[in-house]
Amino acid sequence: MTMTPNPSLTVMDHPLVDHKLSILRDRSTPSHAFRQTLHELSWLLAHPTFTALRTEDVEIDTPLERMTARQMRPPYPCVVSILRAGNGLVDGFSQVCPEASVGHLGLYRDHDTMEPVSYYSSLPSDIADRQVILGDPMLATGGSAVMALDKLREIGVADIVFACLVAAPEGVATLHGAHPDVPIVTAALDRELNDSCYILPGLGDAGDRIYGTE
Ligand code: URA
Repeated sequence: MTMTPNPSLTVMDHPLVDHKLSILRDRSTPSHAFRQTLHELSWLLAHPTFTALRTEDVEIDTPLERMTARQMRPPYPCVVSILRAGNGLVDGFSQVCPEASVGHLGLYRDHDTMEPVSYYSSLPSDIADRQVILGDPMLATGGSAVMALDKLREIGVADIVFACLVAAPEGVATLHGAHPDVPIVTAALDRELNDSCYILPGLGDAGDRIYGTE
């Protein structure tokens, strides 16, 4: 019998997350403050995102005695950014987990068809052996996330977590419909998408707000 894994969705519930999200959502927040706040929030988001990180027993000597501690061992995880907004999220992940490699997938949404198009891929050659954290601040239609996950699956990656700041119910359903075994971790689950596939209430175009390109 094949078991279908229960799709997993973790929505953070913490006053510091609420506070930082309110700054990101506010249209009057300038780009430099947006970037800094996203960076701080990504450190908090790293906590639930890295919950299933593989560690092993190691013997170490404290200044006082020998003990068994837990440590990551190679191959270390790989955080993968869906360009370009993903960089704003995974920079913080790679700071809290500096052993991790950083991969990039370039996808954009065709504004006419709303379909994701792939234009760039840079991943470590042994990525199939690693735990992968795939990051994109906004899980809107789920199209880019599914395309990125398809690509990672094609090259043999088994263990993947998808992390975002704001998810729409439509995106969660699409991602879990295509990849039910990929846990989603998000700082917020918003109401819906509008006709242009922006998340409501959302925070606008994450890439433009990070890089000041509105
Ligand atoms: N991408 C964004 O940056 N914002 C949205 O609301 C949806 C997709």
